[in-house]
Amino acid sequence: SCGICVEKCPFDAIQILNLPQELDEEPIHRYGENSFALYGLPAPEEGRVTGILGPNGIGKTTAVRILADELAPNLGEVGDEPDWSEVLEEYRGTALQEYLEAMREGDVTVARKPQYVDQIPDQFDGPTSALLEQTDERGALDELIDRLGIRPVVDQHIDTLSGGELQRVALAATLARDADFYFLDEITPYLDISQRMTAARLVRELAEEENRSMLVVEHDLAILDLIADAIHVAYGQAGAFGIITPPKSVKNGINEYLSGYLENENMRIRETEIEFEEHAPRSNTTGQSLVEYPALEKSYGEGEFSLSVESGTIHEGEVLGVVGPNGIGKSTFAQMLAGRLEPDEGEVDSRLDIAYKPQYIEIDQPMRVDAFLSTITDDFGSSFWKTEIAQPLQLDAIMEQNLTDLSGGERQRVAIAACLSEDADLYLLDEPSAHLDVEQRVLATSAIRRYAENNDATAMVIDHDIYMIDLLSDRLLVFEGEPAERGRAAEPQGMREGMNDFLSNLDITFRRDERTSRPRINKPGSQLDREQKNAGEYYYAP
Ligand code: ADP
Ligand code: ADP
Repeated sequence: SCGICVEKCPFDAIQILNLPQELDEEPIHRYGENSFALYGLPAPEEGRVTGILGPNGIGKTTAVRILADELAPNLGEVGDEPDWSEVLEEYRGTALQEYLEAMREGDVTVARKPQYVDQIPDQFDGPTSALLEQTDERGALDELIDRLGIRPVVDQHIDTLSGGELQRVALAATLARDADFYFLDEITPYLDISQRMTAARLVRELAEEENRSMLVVEHDLAILDLIADAIHVAYGQAGAFGIITPPKSVKNGINEYLSGYLENENMRIRETEIEFEEHAPRSNTTGQSLVEYPALEKSYGEGEFSLSVESGTIHEGEVLGVVGPNGIGKSTFAQMLAGRLEPDEGEVDSRLDIAYKPQYIEIDQPMRVDAFLSTITDDFGSSFWKTEIAQPLQLDAIMEQNLTDLSGGERQRVAIAACLSEDADLYLLDEPSAHLDVEQRVLATSAIRRYAENNDATAMVIDHDIYMIDLLSDRLLVFEGEPAERGRAAEPQGMREGMNDFLSNLDITFRRDERTSRPRINKPGSQLDREQKNAGEYYYAP
């Protein structure tokens, strides 16, 4: 069903639209009559990193529960005793045979990193060191703590950690275990680019040097591209059925996914293609200024952290991307613009109305989504509001849920909607990509862009997903310095100059996929990497 009809589609509309439809074959598991069914399983392989690319709610956790021997698959025979010999027969001769046999022999141990690290403090109470120590099964914990940069927080109580710190603690706790099969459900939320690269490197090392099987779900495509040896695309209809493809090469998998068409499966999963521009876009705004802010200075405590921002102009109707490492002062700057924080030097024009979506979203009112959003705007429910906000952010399905029951990705979409629904001069969004799947990132990106274009609204977006920043921004504001010590920002720049500044700080260059122009991270020290660095072209061609 496409969600409109309950029964099988009487008009074959699904076939006409060529949208994913349930397969004719047996699923690997079905939860109940008319319940979610999963087709296909990912195949973990020793010494390799296997990626899964696809939306939330499509059966990834179900698949992993099967691979962890927690859920016995019923091959679609709801109510029957699960029969492993049939399952093994089904997978004979495939990449999974060896894994499943070892698993049935009890030879496979599993370590898992959960998706929503924000929930860790609800499940564990105590100092961070106590959580970490119980995971030190390979004697690698000390090294992991240092390389992930979490030494300064190990003595803190777990509920004082930021999202980025929790993410790195969770990564250390998972990778420190002595398991055969590691499952990591997202490694990048709340991490900056160099932290993402470190996490990717640690996962790769465990595969290559210790011959472990690594399975990673990741929505930051630049990182997925870097980390995986092969990927499975997952598609279907969230909540109804999910199909996991056989493994594809990383390049083909990501390219097919972006193009919206899976070649081997002859399956269209999206109507439009996601395209990247090889050349920096020319700013399409009139250049009218929305706000000119003076040079700003701010420090916390005595020499704890100091920020210095050059004076600059934000143009009316533009999307200004904001990039730079964690702890460099981006939120501090945002708070000063929003009038929530007094600068030590310089004064911000306080006539500006700012709508602000913070990085960590705390909504704990026991209130329904629709009730909450209708308190923010009188436009709630109008056709304008539905087309511009509710539809691209996929809010329809969650309108009647309670804010407190939402998953991380759902909460993020409600928070973006709440921010864009305000009547403001400047929309300031801090890490809107966190916990959104690739599809939702693309939709959120175009919702923010369209909203800015159609309403002469101006947006400032802080994010670490380089694809999202590329697709979203007209210009860039680059922060640099020494995290947690001092930060500085030059004035906003064009995309090409900005990307060069930002990526030269990180020492990373991108090449272009020849077929799709998709940016891909160059191997450090490779010929292209050296050539581009010499030419000073880190991202866009001139
Ligand atoms: P993902 O990890 O891709 O987000 P899941 O595997 O957690 O997806 O869930 C896929 C679908 O299966 C969801 O619609 C979920 O509601 C449903 N589901 C998960 N567990 C059960 C269960 N025990 N009984 C019935 N349905 C379930
Ligand atoms: P970013 O948004 O780039 O991650 P922030 O502006 O949040 O950076 O923080 C910059 C630095 O200032 C960090 O080291 C942070 O710990 C510190 N900091 C932020 N807010 C406060 C505060 N209210 N008091 C003391 N230090 C703070």
